[in-house]
Order: sequence, then structure tokens, then C-alpha cells
Amino acid sequence: MGDRPGTSAVTVHETVASRVLIGSGALGQVPDEVAKLGAERVLLVSTPSSAGAAEEVAAALGPRLGARFDRPAPHTPVGVTAEAMTVVASARVDCVIAIGGGSAIGLAKAVSGRTGIPQIAVPTTYAGSEATPVLGETENGVKTTRRDPALAPGTVVYDPDLTLTMPGGLTRTSALNALAHAVEALWAPDATAVTDALATEAVHGILSALPEVLADPAGPPGRSRLQAAAWLAGICLAQTRMGLHHQLAHVLGGAFDLPHAELHALLLPHVMAFNLPSAPAAAARLERVAGPDPVAVVSGLAYAYEGPTTLGALGVPRGQLAALAERVVAQPYPNPRPPDVAAVTSLLDGAW
Ligand code: NAD
Repeated sequence: MGDRPGTSAVTVHETVASRVLIGSGALGQVPDEVAKLGAERVLLVSTPSSAGAAEEVAAALGPRLGARFDRPAPHTPVGVTAEAMTVVASARVDCVIAIGGGSAIGLAKAVSGRTGIPQIAVPTTYAGSEATPVLGETENGVKTTRRDPALAPGTVVYDPDLTLTMPGGLTRTSALNALAHAVEALWAPDATAVTDALATEAVHGILSALPEVLADPAGPPGRSRLQAAAWLAGICLAQTRMGLHHQLAHVLGGAFDLPHAELHALLLPHVMAFNLPSAPAAAARLERVAGPDPVAVVSGLAYAYEGPTTLGALGVPRGQLAALAERVVAQPYPNPRPPDVAAVTSLLDGAW
């Protein structure tokens, strides 16, 4: 378990209570889930990409639809949440449903965190936010993250049909975002037998289903397997402390407002190459499911992306890499290879 034997003989495995529905057509059961919560006035959060699913749920809810909000934004800006809160107050809603990626789900978490109303999350990407008690909010360009069991959606509805519309590029980067949760869980200091099993199966599922989905993006069997693997990866994100990869994504994403999935996808092979020599247990598990060179497998998936695959292409100024490395080293996340400024600068320069 993990790559920090000896830090403590006792491990703590803590789960967030949630009810999960998964399978083709699960979207149709959302109104029943609202009834189970005893809710009577629902706020429905969606994005343009999930408008069709949102229309379906809105129609099925009928008079229980209290209000709609269709402008969630990445990194949950507090100004957008304030706009949503005025809708919440005027419509007196008692439940929030989010249909969309991590941005929509983040907004529902922010609303629930301010009101205590229950949430139903219907994810349409592989980002994993629906599985976690974590919320990152942005104000004046600074992203602050908090963890509270009350932030975790009590109901999660995974319907693979909603992922059929994901373009190939988003499919690739979002699946690599999920893969990063599982990889970091393997070298987490608080890994347990449960998280090791979930992470290993998540890596196996993502690496086997992703090529199939990329070859046939609208193929339901591959989409179902990829979504199920991403669910496992989301639980890994919820149950272990993430390391250097997520810290880099947090610092860079917050500093330059970078696209979340693309950033995760391009960083992952670099962080794996950096950490795996110091994480033999994680490396052995990855080799079991990915073959003798897991970094090459993940690099192949990441660099075949047709969008930006370097920090330079995302617009990060090369001259700021050392300063970013200093910020990372000043507040290190748990990591199997202790980061120093020179090594992290060199990692970032490689990704640049
Ligand atoms: P996103 O929600 O911003 O979506 C990215 C784009 O994809 C959007 O334009 C969206 O409309 C579109 N899209 C979503 N689903 C689609 C589909 N099925 N078909 C076609 N287009 C679709 O991106 P994301 O990567 O899902 O989430 C990123 C956000 O989630 C970030 O703010 C990140 O910080 C947060 N996040 C939080 C956690 C957590 O545990 N708190 C975990 C992961 C991500």
C-alpha cells in the first residue's frame, strides 16, 4: 500500500455516503431520486452541452422545477455562485441538480454548501468531482479549496448515454484527468488496500476502454466501461491525498485560468516519470496493468491529443516556471519524491 511504509502502522479509510445509480437510461430516474429526497422545488444547473438532458429532466419534473441556471463556469468563480444564489433565494428551492462536467457540479456544491440543500449530480465528463467532498472556488484569480463531507453530492447518476456527445479531444483529456486521480492514489501516503484496488482497476479500465472509445466515440459498450472506470478514479480522488500532479494542476490552473482536463493530460506523463522511480509499489501495480513502460503508454495517449500538449502551447510564460516551482515547493503536497525548486523547474520546463 502506498510508497511511504513506516509513516504510520494504522491507516484510516473514510468514505462519503452517497447513493449511486449507473447505467444507460439512468437519467430517466432523476425525478424519482428527487421524490426520494422529499424535494418539491428543484434548481436545475446545466451547461449548453447538457441542454438536451436538462430539457428532459425539466419536463419530467413538471411543477417541481423551481428554477434553472445555465451559466456555470470553470473553477467555480464566487461571482457566478452569487448570481446562482439570487435565483436560489427568489425561487426558494430545496434541492439542486447539476447536469454537466465538473464546472456544473462545482456550482451545485457551492450552492449546497451555502444552503444545506441536497444535491443530485449527473456527470457528463470523467473529471470525478461528483465523487468528492471537495470544492475549489475562485475569487480575484486565487483558487481556494475546501473539504467537507457535506459538500459531496448525496446522489450521483451516471448515465453513459450522456457521454456519447463528448468530442474525441475532450474524451481523451478528461479520461487522462481521471487517470491522474488513480495514479496519484497509488503513491498516496494514506493509500489503503481498498484505494489500491480501486486505483488499479481504474487504471486498467481507463487504459483498456479509452482506445476503444477514441476509435468509436459513440459506441455504448466502451463508453460504459470508461465511465465506470472514471467513477472508480473519482473515489480515489475522494479517499486519498493527492500529490505533486494535482498540486501542479492547482497552481498552474489557478494562476493562468488554464483548461482543467488539457492541463491534467499534458502534465501526467511528466509527473509519472518524475515520481515512479521513488514509488516502487505504485510502479509495480502500474506495470501489472499497463505493461513494462507505463510512462510511454500514458505519453502516447497524452501526446496524440490534437490540442495543446505543452505548457507553452497553453500560454504559460517560460520565464515564470521557476517562480511557479517555488510556490509548489513552499507548500508541498505529500509526494513520494520530495520536490525541490530545481527539480520541479526542470519538470515544468520539460512540460513547457
Ligand atoms: P467542464 O465542466 O468545464 O466542461 C468542459 C467543457 O466540456 C464545457 O464546455 C462543457 O460544456 C463541455 N462538456 C461537458 N460534458 C460534455 C459532453 N458530454 N459532451 C460535449 N461537451 C461536454 O470541465 P471538467 O473537466 O468536467 O471539469 C473541470 C472543473 O471541475 C474545474 O473547475 C475543476 O476544478 C473541477 N473539478 C473539481 C473536482 C473536485 O473534486 N472538486 C474534481 C475534478 C474537477
